[in-house]
Amino acid sequence: MDFDFKDIVESAQDVIIVTKADNFDHPGPEIVYVNKAFTELTGYSQDEAIGQTPRMLQGDDTDEESKQNIRVALEKKEPIRLTIKNYSKYGQEYWLDLNILPLKNPEGQVTHFVAIQRDVTESICLQRELEVLSRTDDLTGLINRREFNCLLKKEFLRFKRNALAYAVLMIDADSFKRINDYYGHSTGDSVLQKIAQICSADRRFNDVLARIGGEEFCLLLPEIDKDQAFLIAEKLRLAVMKSSMDIVHDSVPITISIGVSVVKESDINPEETLCRADKNLYKAKGLGRNCTVKD
Ligand code: GH3
Ligand code: MG
Ligand code: MG
Repeated sequence: MDFDFKDIVESAQDVIIVTKADNFDHPGPEIVYVNKAFTELTGYSQDEAIGQTPRMLQGDDTDEESKQNIRVALEKKEPIRLTIKNYSKYGQEYWLDLNILPLKNPEGQVTHFVAIQRDVTESICLQRELEVLSRTDDLTGLINRREFNCLLKKEFLRFKRNALAYAVLMIDADSFKRINDYYGHSTGDSVLQKIAQICSADRRFNDVLARIGGEEFCLLLPEIDKDQAFLIAEKLRLAVMKSSMDIVHDSVPITISIGVSVVKESDINPEETLCRADKNLYKAKGLGRNCTVKD
């Protein structure tokens, strides 16, 4: 073939770096070649990069486990592929799909490595955004029912290990249909945001508040007993009632009802506690609303 492979490598869209296959520990394998795409992505010229090590592209936030996996593969002279965060000359972070392959001399010894890298920052950011969206409720910014159930399951397993009881509070806005009818749907939305805000205030680090339905919230309170949980529920109920006038300045008040339940030794899954809290909420509605019922 009467063309030079170097021209192809030089003008490839992917970043290509060739290093020597030694100095894995310190300071790291020496760069002997980088293509044009490398300079475009990292800001380092070819002259600046040659003689350095690819480790200059790593930063404090580059995953330790990934770095360790690369080192182990290099020492074993094996190929490796992973996604890793690197930094440009100017401190800009970017994500790479990194593929490292050993290069052998005619005698079959590995003398160099080639790293072929693709900038996947956009798709990683999009993926992270989607992950956040799939866990969150748009209106209030709280986590949604699915995420709440995952966290509740973890708390239940923790309870089975260490017997530290937790409580769940089922919180439901009273006569919310009326609120919507009277003030309009968009004020109804603001009311839900305000309730979320009130219930989030003064929470402990491990407490978890979720919007699990239209006008329903659930609060998970780890390491607590029934009476303490009841007191917290009452505090929230009173706080919502007190701020009702600030929210709507009118005659149809905003109130919530709450069902409280604490996990029991005999519970075989986390739904049992939820179910009791739900029944207590139902009782609270039956008692005329704007009240709290515990087990
Ligand atoms: P109860 O005291 O028995 O809970 O009565 P309620 O009217 O609150 O209960 P119901 O379940 O009958 O109605 C809930 C209402 O909440 C109906 C629905 O239109 C409203 N809702 C649900 N999601 C939203 C939302 O995102 N925004 C607004 N503005 N309203 C919502
Ligand atoms: Mg309701
Ligand atoms: Mg409801």
